[in-house]
Amino acid sequence: MEYYNLKDPRIRTGFRGAVEKGISSNMGLFMPARIPRPDEAFFSRLPGLALPEIAMEVGQLYVGNEIPVPAMRQICEEAFDFPVIIRQLDERSQVLELFHGPTAAFKDFGARFMAGCFRYFSTQDDRRTVVLVATSGDTGGAIASSFLGVDGVDVVILYPSGMVSRLQENQITTMGSNITAIEIEGTFDDCQAMVKGILSGAATGGRVKLTSANSINIARLIPQTFYYYYALARTGKGTVLSVPSGNFGNITAAAMAWKSGLGILHLVAATNINRVVPEYLDTGIFKPAPTVATIANAMDVGNPGNFDRLRRVFDDDYETISRSVAGCWFDDDRISKHMGEEYLRTGYILDPHGAVASLGLKEYLDSHPGTTGIFAATAHPAKFTGIVEPLIGREVEVPDSLVKFLSGTKRSVKMRPGTENLKQYLIDSYGC
Ligand SMILES: *Cc1c(COP(=O)(O)O)cnc(C)c1O
Repeated sequence: MEYYNLKDPRIRTGFRGAVEKGISSNMGLFMPARIPRPDEAFFSRLPGLALPEIAMEVGQLYVGNEIPVPAMRQICEEAFDFPVIIRQLDERSQVLELFHGPTAAFKDFGARFMAGCFRYFSTQDDRRTVVLVATSGDTGGAIASSFLGVDGVDVVILYPSGMVSRLQENQITTMGSNITAIEIEGTFDDCQAMVKGILSGAATGGRVKLTSANSINIARLIPQTFYYYYALARTGKGTVLSVPSGNFGNITAAAMAWKSGLGILHLVAATNINRVVPEYLDTGIFKPAPTVATIANAMDVGNPGNFDRLRRVFDDDYETISRSVAGCWFDDDRISKHMGEEYLRTGYILDPHGAVASLGLKEYLDSHPGTTGIFAATAHPAKFTGIVEPLIGREVEVPDSLVKFLSGTKRSVKMRPGTENLKQYLIDSYGC
């Protein structure tokens, strides 16, 4: 499989090249040269396949022979060792729960598959790999948990001091081993600028290989297609799919799965008040805007990184994309009200992100009689107890995977913003 660069389509590389370059040389996004289509036999077997089996078959189409079948099997079985759960909420709607992984958010799918790929590639190389990540919260935990104990790979996570939740901070700072947390006395933008600063100026050929695990890495996008095959095989053809969207990776993956032959009727891109994509879908004009803080904070993105990829899946054609994807957005009041109402109506507890997707689906189904649909719930409500509990008037049970992060010893390196500071740290720690 060949991948090309969206900024400059003449830049072509294989799967490994696309994974390892990522954004590291400021090269922009990679896309597969074509969206691979599994054969008919795959689709007829699909309803009986478990997630790791789907991952192996679909994943192999994306990685080609750059990861041999036995290694791919191991990556998929280890990455997807937790359930995906579908629940029927009423006659017309179902929920796709993507939060049963180790950090209780759907980012586990992408992070764990990517970690498996990095580990495999590091066995093909004598040098250590140092993975740099800037996080505003959730990504850091998913990356830390996915890379913990992976041979040949060290992970350095930068996060803004005092700006992540206690649980999120514990997920980043209590693991130890090959995971180092750097607490930046600044903002998420400072963290991101430091990582970019290092990677764009990094001299390659040193003793270690520096790379990044940011959200637009293609190895995080591809595995997000797998659960849509799993879900749609179980909901039947002609289902509407609503996805809570921030950086628009998850819905791009859904669009890729759709294009590869999966029977989706329509996509709903649901978001919070950061509404640049719904506005684009309405008007054809894409205007990035400053980020606004909301209660669905993992979707607080004013300039979604995967937007160009989403458009590419629809051939960069506004007519096609606006016919296929409905955009909608909801402010905090609507989201809160819906969480309370849905709990009363069905007994189901939504987190703020799932609530956005649920609202998006509801809006679509209400205006399209006779349709049925499924929405993605991307985080466990226990990650947002402070918001959820007052709205439903009861406590939310914390899943076992999160309990251990309620305590633990925090270890972090404090650092002031500035690429030079990070550079010095990397020289002292890794000689690079
Ligand atoms: C990251 C995240 C999203 C947004 O996903 P994108 O792929 O960035 O659109 C939604 N919900 C939760 C809980 C997230 O962590």
